[in-house]
Amino acid sequence: SKVLRIENLRVAIEGKEILKGVDLTIKQGEVHALMGPNGSGKSTLSYALMGHPNYEVTGGTVTIDGQDLLALEPDERAKAGVFLAFQYPTAIPGVTVANFLRHAVTNVRNPERKEGQDLIPMRDFRKELRQEMDDLGMDQEFARRYLNEGFSGGEKKRAEILQLAMLRPAFAILDETDSGLDIDAVRIVSEGVNRVAAKHSTGVLVITHYERILTYIKPQFVHILFGGQIVEEGGPELVKQLEREGYDWVRAKYPEAA
Ligand code: ADP
Ligand code: MG
Ligand code: MG
Repeated sequence: SKVLRIENLRVAIEGKEILKGVDLTIKQGEVHALMGPNGSGKSTLSYALMGHPNYEVTGGTVTIDGQDLLALEPDERAKAGVFLAFQYPTAIPGVTVANFLRHAVTNVRNPERKEGQDLIPMRDFRKELRQEMDDLGMDQEFARRYLNEGFSGGEKKRAEILQLAMLRPAFAILDETDSGLDIDAVRIVSEGVNRVAAKHSTGVLVITHYERILTYIKPQFVHILFGGQIVEEGGPELVKQLEREGYDWVRAKYPEAA
């Protein structure tokens, strides 16, 4: 089983240092939550991991079993086994969910494949897709919809989870803003993540401001990011504490980090 290791990661946006030395190790099969107040740098971490050009890594390393993830292009990171929820296009006109997934699955499974070479066989793909959709309790009709065209928040999340189930990455990093997600969508994401993580031994990092989603996805490890540094680490009891007390105690305890 693989290990994703973030060591002393420093990231700047437009010359301003946002992440100030982040350490985080995730093993396959573990579920971690990264929490923190607004502006603490949570999304900066996910953008840096996905290789967004505006996020400059100024120090530290990110590796999977020793392989340097930061040296890879964004699409190569997916092939190396990292799923980043929002690295994918938001809407592709005329492409069905099934079609999109067949391309994505082909690319991730055959890293050496060149543009224009064969996709994975339709029969195998359809069988696998049907199975995953059944397991996730999804209507088969959903695969024939055009990707993200007129999707509700819940349907976008469904597509994302189905993608996660089909790609079976070693690691999934999910930046869940929670905002705009109704309780059904939160439930869909959570049940899907739990199911996929258990079935494929995915290492999961759920990034969220709110504890709501963590009542459904039960993380074993909880990290609190504040002022670009991880200031507190623990188990599920940290989620409970944030639920009761909010982030004020974090601000009070680490005034120099703000
Ligand atoms: P979080 O996801 O925890 O709310 P972010 O990573 O979005 O935090 O933001 C961390 C800090 O970086 C904030 O102070 C924010 O103002 C700043 N920041 C984020 N994006 C940009 C940007 N594109 N340009 C300049 N500053 C940014
Ligand atoms: Mg924010
Ligand atoms: Mg954010």
